[in-house]
Amino acid sequence: MSVSDSQSSSGHRVVVLSGPSGSGKTTIVNRLIAESPVKLQKSVSATTRKPRPQEVEGEDYYFLADADFREKLAQDLFIEHAEVFSSGFLYGTLRSEVERAWQSKAWAFLEIDVEGALNVMQQYPDAVTIFLKTPSPEEFEKRLRARGTENEATIQKRLATAASELEFVDRYRHVVVNDVLDRAVAEICDILKSEETNRNA
Ligand code: 5GP
Repeated sequence: MSVSDSQSSSGHRVVVLSGPSGSGKTTIVNRLIAESPVKLQKSVSATTRKPRPQEVEGEDYYFLADADFREKLAQDLFIEHAEVFSSGFLYGTLRSEVERAWQSKAWAFLEIDVEGALNVMQQYPDAVTIFLKTPSPEEFEKRLRARGTENEATIQKRLATAASELEFVDRYRHVVVNDVLDRAVAEICDILKSEETNRNA
């Protein structure tokens, strides 16, 4: 039986989380991986951007040279990919990451941008899609600046991207406001639990 056959009775167990950087996504992702009531396995994306200090190859991303990324694209090894923030850097979800999660009977957990999410929705219409919002645009900008990891030009690009991504919020099955961390994590845990219950019904 192939991996996709084994998925067919209960649907494709894919969770997609999107939201502007600065919406507190990384913290939420780490909390969910640790606390989720359903088994989640983080899909490690491939990217052509350079690692930041502290980032670990194979844990945070697979850091690839542009040519390597394009070769994998040509081999159809990605389920989706996008150039994020018009940065010139490519990001993509490897098919093998999703299958790795399914092999271990987990939900594949994808933290990807809106463009990638729309592609995943086409391929897996039953994916659980969650958009994480900050309470207000002002709060979002404050959080982005507080990180102190980006220069002004990058911050401006991310603000513009965030504004345009908001147009696609309606395409997501769930919208969660990251006002209070514990509350937002609990809300997503509830969503995952009820999705799992529905799949098993
Ligand atoms: P960062 O460079 O800050 O790690 O990530 C930038 C953005 O890339 C984030 O908004 C994240 O959602 C998005 N991203 C990360 N991995 C992927 C991926 O595999 N596919 C797509 N489409 N977007 C991704």
